Amino acid sequence: MIDQEKIRQGVKLLLEGIGEDMNREGLLETPDRIARMYEEIYGGMEEDAGVYLKKCFHVVGSEMVIEKDITFYSTCEHHLLPFYGKVHIAYIPDGKVTGLSKLARTVEVFAKRLQLQEQLTGQIADALMKYLQPKGVMVLVEAEHMCMTMRGIKKPGTQTVTAARRGSFETNPELEERFFRMIGRQ
Ligand code: ZN
Repeated sequence: MIDQEKIRQGVKLLLEGIGEDMNREGLLETPDRIARMYEEIYGGMEEDAGVYLKKCFHVVGSEMVIEKDITFYSTCEHHLLPFYGKVHIAYIPDGKVTGLSKLARTVEVFAKRLQLQEQLTGQIADALMKYLQPKGVMVLVEAEHMCMTMRGIKKPGTQTVTAARRGSFETNPELEERFFRMIGRQ
């Protein structure tokens, strides 16, 4: 459960910690604004991907399904700064597929939490394996981390790329090559 009062107190302390004057007009409503915003950007903590992925339908055949360029925004748990970019998902169905919008919903459930990019990538892949029981899944995430670019450690626009492979994608490199070709990365 998100505790708005704790967030308000915490933000006030943070601002005082950096030397701000909490009576300044521009800051008066900031703790409250942030508390309300956190309800939204951390809303995934109280959600389960199964809510979306259980709504699947049956198919014959096992052609690779690809959903590319799913935009996401998440928060790095080490610095509480945003990281954001694109998720590309491929899976080989084994009798069950889900609606394409459900894949985007699944990404949101895991993005709207404190995250690490590697963990986000793996959680999406594992949720698809769990609920669709496909022959294989591959998830690729390309993201820019404000904790790197804002602090000048890396140049703006630097992309961190992570991948998770499950099932047949772990054993058959041809599937991965096809996936990369189809999302235009090769
Ligand atoms: Zn970070």
